[in-house]
Amino acid sequence: MTSLKNKTALITGSTSGIGLAIAHALARAGANIMLNGFGDEKEIEAIRVSLEKTYNVSVRYSSADVANKAALETMVKDTVKTLGALDILVNNAGIQYVAPVIEFPDEKWEAILAINLTAAFRLSKLALPHMIQSDWGRIVNIASAHGMVASPFKSAYVAAKHGLVGLTKTVALEMAESNITCNVLCPGYVKTPLVEKQIAEQAKVHNLSEDRVVKDILLAAQPNKKFIKPENLADLVLFLCSDSAEGMTGEVIAMDGGWTAH
Ligand code: NAD
Repeated sequence: MTSLKNKTALITGSTSGIGLAIAHALARAGANIMLNGFGDEKEIEAIRVSLEKTYNVSVRYSSADVANKAALETMVKDTVKTLGALDILVNNAGIQYVAPVIEFPDEKWEAILAINLTAAFRLSKLALPHMIQSDWGRIVNIASAHGMVASPFKSAYVAAKHGLVGLTKTVALEMAESNITCNVLCPGYVKTPLVEKQIAEQAKVHNLSEDRVVKDILLAAQPNKKFIKPENLADLVLFLCSDSAEGMTGEVIAMDGGWTAH
């Protein structure tokens, strides 16, 4: 089993969905965790304490808005100060907005690019010096099948996720001769709050029931017709953080039920 004992992982957007599953997987392997994301203060504190107790690791929480450059600097400083290092960075925080390009609100475009792409650039820039110093590091970016192919009505998300794939490959090449890897995961649909919101929005755009959106639109592209499980993605992140994955860098890895095999 992979041991991440004495490693520290910063996972953005880890108060919910895929990021929270990744926090569980890395903590189970012994990593100390910096949680990040929004939500109810009491619920987040309960998550933090439960992770600490269940896995016997140190867990801290940062409420940094990843769209805010100064907040990212503070979060990285706090991670190193309170947990002693920054060995693993998972750029997972993401938002979605669905609308035809001619109606797409400029502020939604800007927010999606800032949260889903620019934050990953800024955090990589801030985390890499710590990884270089300890001569070991793992960056895992969470893109989407939409980092490889497009769908209508998702211009900003598709652009940001394609950008994240490009950023991953560049960081991987710059770090290739070190013990630092950078990879990107491209999940298909995972039933999390992000997708539940999307189902409602797509139902409005297409004037369909939510059941029809799931069957005819979301999972229409996903040949296995099943949602991906967050814990399966988290296991893949854990593998990428292991020594067995030391030769994997700049990889674009799909877990999408066959979607991008089309
Ligand atoms: P989610 O909505 O359940 O979780 C998103 C997390 O990001 C939450 O913790 C939220 O608080 C946090 N977040 C949002 N904006 C933030 C900000 N400005 N600063 C800090 N944290 C912020 O969504 P999820 O489905 O778990 O998505 C996680 C990632 O996986 C996203 O990047 C998403 O694009 C990607 N993804 C999701 C799916 C899917 O089907 N759910 C598929 C492919 C890729």
